Amino acid sequence: MNEIRHTDIAIIGSGPAGLTAALYAARAQLHVLVFEGNQPGGQLTITTEVENYPGFENGIMGPELMDIMRKQAQRFGAESIFEHVTEVALDRRPFLIATDRDRRYTADALIVATGASAKMLGVAGETEYMGYGVSACATCDGFFFRNLRVAVIGGGDTAMEEALYLTRFASEVVIIHRREEFRASKIMLDRARSNEKIRWVTSTVVEEFLGETLSTGIRRLTGLQLRNVVTGDIWVEPFDGAFVAIGHKPNTEIFQGALEMDDGGYIVTNCKSTRTSIEGVFACGDVQDHIYRQAITAAGSGCMAAIDATHWLENIRHSAEATA
Ligand SMILES: Cc1cc2nc3c(=O)[nH]c(=O)nc-3n(C[C@H](O)[C@H](O)[C@H](O)COP(=O)(O)OP(=O)(O)OC[C@H]3O[C@@H](n4cnc5c(N)ncnc54)[C@H](O)[C@@H]3O)c2cc1C
Repeated sequence: MNEIRHTDIAIIGSGPAGLTAALYAARAQLHVLVFEGNQPGGQLTITTEVENYPGFENGIMGPELMDIMRKQAQRFGAESIFEHVTEVALDRRPFLIATDRDRRYTADALIVATGASAKMLGVAGETEYMGYGVSACATCDGFFFRNLRVAVIGGGDTAMEEALYLTRFASEVVIIHRREEFRASKIMLDRARSNEKIRWVTSTVVEEFLGETLSTGIRRLTGLQLRNVVTGDIWVEPFDGAFVAIGHKPNTEIFQGALEMDDGGYIVTNCKSTRTSIEGVFACGDVQDHIYRQAITAAGSGCMAAIDATHWLENIRHSAEATA
């Protein structure tokens, strides 16, 4: 067994929340390890242009933004560990962390920034055209589809919200749903039904995301291959964008039973702070936020988590010295 490394603050996750927490904690002169996980840089590494992160007048590519964030945190001493955390023991202090490389670490404080993943359909072309017409976030990408035709796939409140938001930009929004009945609440359904820009295609599933590669080498979604689940009919409809809106899943498996979570599996944080149900453990970013889900809100709560963790460490260390 490898020797156990100790740190002041361990941050699990390297998206905007984790890397911002790392920047603040490292600048507070604490020793910081950032566990980058299976997706170093987080969700923004699978998108193209980010136009709504403040400070970048002309937008910035998602992977580049995350590289900058990592380098900024590293400049103050934060250390990236390119390992995925497989287990945490939160019933002891320091907290114990085990990773997929069979290494173990201990930390006086822990910041959980493991994010959430949009649920995807898992059909052909979806990954290939992600960021090139396929999206899971209307707030992030709706603006790119001004006067264009888009599809929203899903039948719950998320799908209705995304569709309604997209009517601000798109010339037409087509909601594609696999059943006749909708899971969405009546109020959201009524709102969507009364919007003239929204068209409905029910009892229909997406079989494939179709696209092309332009002479510039850039990929572009051109349409969807659809199948009616009742009649079996298969046809292709042209679309400029397709928004998969079938929900999100927070990455909280390793904290099951250890941290308090809501019904959706999101970590519950204390009102107005990033404290969790366990003292010394803080959570930030999408893993505790099912409402805003933006890079800037994740970064903001990452800053809060670092400040909360720094204060908490200061207090327990001060109390320990006072009683020594
Ligand atoms: C395609 C796409 C486009 C988007 N576009 C925009 C946009 O234009 N503007 C915008 O503001 N937002 C956008 N978003 C949303 C934005 O990316 C998220 O809100 C933001 O990334 C959340 O940050 P986070 O740090 O909480 O988590 P994430 O970015 O999800 O990062 C989670 C991190 O946790 C790590 N992790 C998970 N489990 C473990 C584990 N067990 N051990 C170690 N590490 C672990 C992962 O490797 C990853 O590094 C987009 C999202 C997607 C999917």
